[in-house]
Amino acid sequence: MRKDPEDMDIDIKRIAELLHTTEQRIRGLLKRGTLHSTPTHHLILERSISKIEVGTAIFPWETYEVVWGFPKIHRAMMLEPALRTHFTTESVAVEEKMNGYNTRVASINGQIVALTRGGHICPYTTEKAESLIPEKIFTDHPEWVLCGEMVGPDSPYAPKETYGIESLQFFLFDIHEKKGGKPLTVAERQEVAEEYGIQSTRLFGTYPLNEAHHKIREIIQMLGASGREGVVIKDPEMRDPPLKYTSSQSNCDDLKYAFTYYHDYARSFFYSRVMREAFQSVEWREGPAEIERRALQLGESILKPMIQSIKRVQSGEKLVENVKIRVKSLKTSEKFKEHLRTLGIDAVFSDPVKIRDEYLIKIQKINHRTNDKTESILSGET
Ligand code: ATP
Ligand code: MG
Repeated sequence: MRKDPEDMDIDIKRIAELLHTTEQRIRGLLKRGTLHSTPTHHLILERSISKIEVGTAIFPWETYEVVWGFPKIHRAMMLEPALRTHFTTESVAVEEKMNGYNTRVASINGQIVALTRGGHICPYTTEKAESLIPEKIFTDHPEWVLCGEMVGPDSPYAPKETYGIESLQFFLFDIHEKKGGKPLTVAERQEVAEEYGIQSTRLFGTYPLNEAHHKIREIIQMLGASGREGVVIKDPEMRDPPLKYTSSQSNCDDLKYAFTYYHDYARSFFYSRVMREAFQSVEWREGPAEIERRALQLGESILKPMIQSIKRVQSGEKLVENVKIRVKSLKTSEKFKEHLRTLGIDAVFSDPVKIRDEYLIKIQKINHRTNDKTESILSGET
């Protein structure tokens, strides 16, 4: 039987043990709401605290289990010096960084759950994970947490057409153990993916540390040309934490998206992405023509979507983000609606359209802040 944390019918001592901390600290976190319960009867850590990552989830179900938050991956701004100072290894593994949303999949008391970065159980992602990941991996290794990116057009959080995926695909990029959080090495993970028939993120190769930046530049330019995001650079043994590095095209795509809903997202997206462009240009020793091209692309990614949004509001349209999901069961869609409500996202679901044995449901997410701001400026706000 599951215990409801709301009743505080939870074993604080057990949670403290799981998180390697004190009961007093757990009580404090619960009291401040930093650790709080969810409608799906587990606990979520709302923000990172020392040594414990945001999105860490505790399941006080039959036996108490923890799934650690997925650690933040630092970004290399200047590749060559960043690689040199960050890694203590002789070589690095370079993997494709897939552009979708982060998912941790685990079996909790025999029940498969797929968690969002924040630690919520996403009912939609869980349904997808159940069909994309063979259950056997969890009967063989109940202690494993599979971390991967959910990528494709039927994505309620980060829809992408770029990859030629039909619906949604899971790309495994990390396996760690529930208990200590210890990761498998890159090679071990690749073997596991092969063994169980799970799609893994592409490994471009393992390169000597002092040459890797040349290779990565080539890879990044190739990826960027086909609208793909970038790379994650890893210690093959997974002892040093990884670094990420992205293409200019993907930076600009992010900006286009953020400036379409400018009052909802633009600020947090803006500064860091302009910085990346500047440092990349310097590191790649670009000449005036290349700088010009980059500047034009950057400027267009900011201004054009914003102008388009303003015009749309001006003509009486509402700015919405159109996403879609494809589910096997309409119950999943209902649960997903509930999930968005929990997250405070205002969304309108269309009637389901049957496609073979599944249902396609269009969802409009409403970006109130940008709509309201645009309307008021258009009507004279100073
Ligand atoms: P972060 O807090 O890690 O910076 P973010 O959402 O701001 O999160 P991103 O720029 O998307 O960060 O980069 C990190 C994310 O990249 C990871 O959380 C993971 O979901 C995703 N990712 C995609 N491919 C890989 C890969 N091959 N290895 C590791 N992570 C990957
Ligand atoms: Mg991402």
